[in-house]
Amino acid sequence: MYLRKVFCYSVICLLCVALVTASLARDTNTKRQTQTNNSDSSPRDEKLWKKALEIHRKAIVVDTHNDILSMMTDDNYDLSVSSVGKYHTDIARMQQGGLTAEFFSVYIDRSFVRDGGSARRTLDMIDYVYRAVERHPNDLMMAYSTADIRRAKKQNKIAALMGIEGGHAIEDSLMALRDFYRLGIRYMTLTHNNTNNWADSCCDEAKHSGLSDFGKEVVREMNRIGMLVDISHVSDKTLSDVLDVSIAPVIASHSSARALADRTRNIPDDLLRRIAKNGGVVMVNFYPGFIDRNAAAASKERDARLLSQVEELRVTYKDDSKRLGEELNKLLAANPLPATQLSVLIDHFDHIAKVAGIDHVGIGSDFDGVPSLPVGMEDISKLPNITYELLKRGYNEKDVRKVLGDNFMRAFAQAESVAQSSSKRLSGDGSVRRISLEKE
Ligand SMILES: [Zn+2]
Repeated sequence: MYLRKVFCYSVICLLCVALVTASLARDTNTKRQTQTNNSDSSPRDEKLWKKALEIHRKAIVVDTHNDILSMMTDDNYDLSVSSVGKYHTDIARMQQGGLTAEFFSVYIDRSFVRDGGSARRTLDMIDYVYRAVERHPNDLMMAYSTADIRRAKKQNKIAALMGIEGGHAIEDSLMALRDFYRLGIRYMTLTHNNTNNWADSCCDEAKHSGLSDFGKEVVREMNRIGMLVDISHVSDKTLSDVLDVSIAPVIASHSSARALADRTRNIPDDLLRRIAKNGGVVMVNFYPGFIDRNAAAASKERDARLLSQVEELRVTYKDDSKRLGEELNKLLAANPLPATQLSVLIDHFDHIAKVAGIDHVGIGSDFDGVPSLPVGMEDISKLPNITYELLKRGYNEKDVRKVLGDNFMRAFAQAESVAQSSSKRLSGDGSVRRISLEKE
């Protein structure tokens, strides 16, 4: 059964159909053709490119959100096998991209809330990360801390870290939260696009006016144990509540700037400034549907145009969700959106650096969680293009390195020291609290 991420960026996706692999490949191929035909990209400044590569190779490069783990889990995909044209990520391309640390997203679909088994799914996905590292010990190493990431860099390996996406994974239990930390989870996105029993999402009904009392307890416990609080996907009010409660820096593992693209899952300027005060970091999401005004408008227009065909497909394949996904993606591939240029993505880095400060922006690609990417950022091997583009815009080496990973490292180190200073206290101050729905 396909339980992969649903791309809730269009009406088609709101119909809750999972994107399937074959179609992702088609989509990627379409993008490549677009790139080849792209005439307005200026020729590369080879001297600057060389400098960019030098800086990039020396730097600690962290990507805080990659969804390839869903493919590893559902298709038993082995990261060492080349998946060019199919997925955005494999070991060779991670190395080519100069990546130091990857956060594998333990994405828990909202369907597990309905059907049960969120925590079990989380455990299964964690095991896939460990087994990938066991299979490829020369290329990957498990990492749990800033010290581990630095060690990986020295050993020329990619640090594998894990973040849970969707707070319903803990099944409303602080005990499960602590256990996931013990298994290596180092951040948790409080919600996905679904409001859960203790936090409101960006893209669902508001039930708690932000964070409930239990939600605040979750944040405090995450601070205490050293798990970063990830505010991607939450509502503005939830984000505001988190910033009131959290004594450690927060992260947005994959969010962009709302001032440039009006999506509720992007972060507005006033909250960017508050995240800066908290010491947090916003990792820019690469997906055209979230960053490109024109792509968003075109996507809306396409949804309206294809609506009746989508409805027809839904009726025809109502008992075969896999086939339905394939057919819908065929339809999308036959009606591609206009290409998004790399400069549109870099604008988001620029904007967040201007509004929140250069210390508060980083990389949260969303590779393998999105159906298309900007020209020049088609897969994980293309990360050095960010370094090049930032240099081209006048950022100095130090600032570029902040964006690539130093900002994340600083925030993570602060979260570690908050945890260290409270480590003498009992787990949850002895709390074995589970949420009681009657009381919440
Ligand atoms: Zn996401």
